[in-house]
Amino acid sequence: MRRTHFICTVEGCNRQHSAKGYCLMHWKRMKRNGHTTARTPEMRFWEKVNKTDTCWLWTASCGEYGYGQYGTGGKNYRAHRYAYEMTYGKIPDDMVLDHLCRNVKCVNPSHLEVVDVRENTVRGNTVKNKRDRLPVGVIRASKNRFRARKWFNGKSINLGYYWTPQEAHMAYILKEGKDVVI
Ligand SMILES: [Zn+2]
Ligand SMILES: [Zn+2]
Repeated sequence: MRRTHFICTVEGCNRQHSAKGYCLMHWKRMKRNGHTTARTPEMRFWEKVNKTDTCWLWTASCGEYGYGQYGTGGKNYRAHRYAYEMTYGKIPDDMVLDHLCRNVKCVNPSHLEVVDVRENTVRGNTVKNKRDRLPVGVIRASKNRFRARKWFNGKSINLGYYWTPQEAHMAYILKEGKDVVI
């Protein structure tokens, strides 16, 4: 009788056999997880998300201010920040993420926008006075002036000042999708 190779039975794994048909790594994983497939931090993350047609809702634990929390590799992350960084890359240190949908449990990267801390505070205040809710790409410059702006390569680009939020929003829409030359 031909002796079989004493290697792990997991497909693609050529490690030396250790126990029950598995190499040491796969045997440990089998004992821990009940299967040999490794779930990446990314896979574990999206398992906790309920994707509705609009917002993608975090279903696991939430912390301060109701933001979702995700623990991986011994660290805790805010879930929306984690989702954003997986999709678009690192958030610059002096920037925060703003929920355009105003739903703190939402981790849909397209509902998140990088803004500086000051602007986020302004927006936060405007949400408290609901009448002052501004469209995407618009911030209040003064009592009766609105500034259109967009983020490009980590910089805020001024698209001009307008008398109404609607005009400012139009300016933003016109620039959207186009590379802005500074
Ligand atoms: Zn193996
Ligand atoms: Zn959302």
